[in-house]
Amino acid sequence: MSKNRFSFDLSRFTVGAANAWLLGIVALTATVAHGQTQTDPDTALRMLNAQQQQFEKGVVQVADNVFTAVGYHGANTSMIVGTDGVIIIDTLFGPSSAADAAEAFRQHSDKPVKAIIYTHSHGDHIGGASAFVGDAKPDIYATESFGSAEGVNKAVDPIKQKRNVRQFGRKLSPAESTNRGVAPAGTKDGDRGEGFLPPTVTVPNSGLKTTIAGIDIEFHISPGETDDAMFIWLPSEKVLFAGDNFYNSFPNLYAIRGTAYRDVLNWSESVGNMATLKPHVVVPGHTMPIAGEAAATAALQDYSDAIRSVYDQTVRGINAGKGPDQLAHEVELPEHLQDKPYLIQFYGTVPHAVRAIYCGLLGWYDGNPTTLNRLEPKIKAKKMAQLAGGTAELTAQMESALENQDYQWALELSDHVKWLDDADRKLARKTKIAALRGLAAREYNAPNRNYYLSYANELESGQLSNVWF
Ligand SMILES: [Zn+2]
Repeated sequence: MSKNRFSFDLSRFTVGAANAWLLGIVALTATVAHGQTQTDPDTALRMLNAQQQQFEKGVVQVADNVFTAVGYHGANTSMIVGTDGVIIIDTLFGPSSAADAAEAFRQHSDKPVKAIIYTHSHGDHIGGASAFVGDAKPDIYATESFGSAEGVNKAVDPIKQKRNVRQFGRKLSPAESTNRGVAPAGTKDGDRGEGFLPPTVTVPNSGLKTTIAGIDIEFHISPGETDDAMFIWLPSEKVLFAGDNFYNSFPNLYAIRGTAYRDVLNWSESVGNMATLKPHVVVPGHTMPIAGEAAATAALQDYSDAIRSVYDQTVRGINAGKGPDQLAHEVELPEHLQDKPYLIQFYGTVPHAVRAIYCGLLGWYDGNPTTLNRLEPKIKAKKMAQLAGGTAELTAQMESALENQDYQWALELSDHVKWLDDADRKLARKTKIAALRGLAAREYNAPNRNYYLSYANELESGQLSNVWF
């Protein structure tokens, strides 16, 4: 064991410890309705606190010559020690967090960096490369389509940035912060991308097998969270680096910060391909590695099956003529997968995935002619008020929904009330803020929770326009 106070070996997370963690989570989720991520406030908080163990800061030795730094920023970075140098897989978000991890790695090897590998192009994996390199000029490996992930919807960057802040809870107070599902809250992000080094070696679409610093290494193209993703395989050590196609949470098949369609079917296939290798350790892009051939292989196979099941159920529902609202409430993980610790919906959710698949395959239209030309919100609000018996009645319904802790209904009614010229719109805003906080307290899905809280704060501060309210 190293003297580094942040170091621990993987034995801590093999059978005994992993089972204890699993049993704790399963006990907590027993009270949670499947398919939903709302529970009582105590349970929600305890679950999120338990998940915190997945990104506690430390270097994990995953094999004799392989080390993974967890919790130095949002994502993981790994070092493989070869004969005359080391290989770095993923480089965190910026040079300061990367320098911190590089220093921790140097306690295990001070050999020069021979190669850097980017599993995919998301900013939390590529922004700190320069901090690992020093005077060396390593080869930098990435796929042919590297960088394609975020380019497609650049036009809407301004709103994506705002939604990103909400999803990750970047402006929440310490009292409101929990975590980001597969990453800690409160990462230092001021140096985003400043250490990025452009790729110098392109991994072809057929993949690549080579030897670097005496280490046999394989690059497998594996589209999933992004189209430009690959996983890395060390055949002699049987260690697999999954990138962001696998981590300890139900996958984020759709990100509420706003993303183009993520090809869910490819994602399932890519993780299924990983399982066929029967790794002895799987190192995720975020969260703790999973050790042991049986555990690692089962986790990958279950993950692939879970994604495929959500996809298949959604497609069957679509072909039966069902719309996204109905399907989002109907589709569930198969029973044997519901309590797997790596499939609990801390980051992605099944209902969001269902909506994304619907939209990705068919676009926004649900096939019902009623929705071809819906009423504009203001007209609909007026008709809702008429139906309720007037604006005062609609407002009273909104208030009683809040009082009864029927938070979703309170939100929906407040959205009507705010369009009415003769309504107490300040009250509607206040109700919306309280309902968002009520939902947040019961939410164990971190992006949902962060988004509710961030939006409530923005409403309260008056920074959102009437359009957004
Ligand atoms: Zn990531």
